Amino acid sequence: MSETSTTLIHHPYKPPAGFDAIPPGVYKASTIAFPSVAALRSRDWKHKTGYTYGLHGTPTTFTLEERIATLEGGKHCTLVPSGLAAVVLVGMALLKAGDELLIPDNAYGPNKTFAQGELAGWGITHRFYDAMNPADLAAKLGPKTRLVWLEAPGSITLEFPDMPALVAAVKAHKNAHPAGIVTALDNTWGAGLAFNAFDLGLDISVQALTKYPSGGADVLMGSVVTRDEALHHLVHFCHMRVGYGIGGNDAELVLRGLNSMALRYAAQDAATRELAAWLAGRPQIATVLHPALPGSPGHETWKRDCAGAACLMSAVFKPEFSPERVDRFCDSLKLFKLGYSWAGPMSLCAPYDIPALRTTPWPHKGGLVRFSVGLEAVADLQADIAQALEKA
Ligand SMILES: *Cc1c(COP(=O)(O)O)cnc(C)c1O
Repeated sequence: MSETSTTLIHHPYKPPAGFDAIPPGVYKASTIAFPSVAALRSRDWKHKTGYTYGLHGTPTTFTLEERIATLEGGKHCTLVPSGLAAVVLVGMALLKAGDELLIPDNAYGPNKTFAQGELAGWGITHRFYDAMNPADLAAKLGPKTRLVWLEAPGSITLEFPDMPALVAAVKAHKNAHPAGIVTALDNTWGAGLAFNAFDLGLDISVQALTKYPSGGADVLMGSVVTRDEALHHLVHFCHMRVGYGIGGNDAELVLRGLNSMALRYAAQDAATRELAAWLAGRPQIATVLHPALPGSPGHETWKRDCAGAACLMSAVFKPEFSPERVDRFCDSLKLFKLGYSWAGPMSLCAPYDIPALRTTPWPHKGGLVRFSVGLEAVADLQADIAQALEKA
């Protein structure tokens, strides 16, 4: 190699300190250099007092962790490469062979799939419970139960559970696991804005930062937040062992999204409520599921516990609409694109076969379409749904 390479790689120039930019700096490094062997041996990676390796955090990722912990009203945050990775990390950190976890029957599908796949293979059992019935959760708690997931509202069907009652059922359980029972919430919908998970009694709050905190539909990331330091260490040390690092560019996108997150949440909330109320009155629709809509399952609990609602609503068609007609409705939408995910700028929708996704009874006969309302004008979105209803 040429001397030029050496000179460039080891270039002595250091820019002056004091560049007080408004956005945090974006650091990208697989590793950092230690000033001495003594420093290398003694550096603490556990408490964010120093740097050891890219996977263990950079100034950029530490900054994002602190902001997400604040957003959620928690104390400690660990970042992972996706929302699903956050769910998986909690399971890996807490569960051992012989343990059992309980998952709401209406939970985010891949949470259940991970339990049925890897966790089952590792000798960890699971049961699904009816999140709208705390007595069902109480009946399923046993001496092996180590982790109880909650999700508010339910994925796709948007029933809003009584989280304090579910947590109380766990706390009242006498025949407990020797290590105790941990409650964890998938808080992607609440996003730290609609309610404070820790004030409602939860131990862990997980988010897909992919959704509201990013807001751009251009990055995947997840977070695990706790108030309890011992619990945080369980999660954080597992994070170190499995190497769930995130990149500086991705952290930068989420840091930027956080600035406008509360405004986007409120705007999309208002737009979704307007569309939900209108859609509920269409002759083709049997019911619209949305926690802020009177009559939607868990509406009263939502009203008691929440200061807002996210951008999701699900419409159940009347039974005379065959699955083919519901598909035609979805194919006829122009502004609502067909796709998963949500909380981005563009409106999305997808049809779901609910009975295939759950074990608890589903009271509706017609097909269900879930909508994620983006940042387009409400009148344009309403006109789009109206024309697609005509074509169905
Ligand atoms: C999207 C989503 C996830 C997973 O997030 P990814 O970043 O897409 O892996 C988890 N839970 C809920 C409720 C979600 O909507």
